[in-house]
Amino acid sequence: MSGDKPGVINTSALESQVKLAAEVGGPIPPLDETLPLSKIKPNTDTWYFSIECPKCRRTSPIFRDYSDGKLGNPFTGRGAVVAACHFCAHQVRAAPHAIASVLWR
Ligand SMILES: [Zn+2]
Repeated sequence: MSGDKPGVINTSALESQVKLAAEVGGPIPPLDETLPLSKIKPNTDTWYFSIECPKCRRTSPIFRDYSDGKLGNPFTGRGAVVAACHFCAHQVRAAPHAIASVLWR
């Protein structure tokens, strides 16, 4: 979609990869670049891939896990995601191995 910010495009690209892996299986491509992500509005009782904020120590949801936790952490690679903490807005940079699926309540 034209006019979308890079963060919005990156977030939907990651969600599409997860959706595909959850529905038909197959690996998620390694994340070898630094991807800025847009802020999301999480819904309660929904699974999100999340990162821990080093500033406020809370776990911040960054994008939807369409496998509802079944994929575990499928992310690999030398890159990173960068997203504003849901709670304190601190810009958090996290490596693929630091992403965890969490049920948002
Ligand atoms: Zn924070």
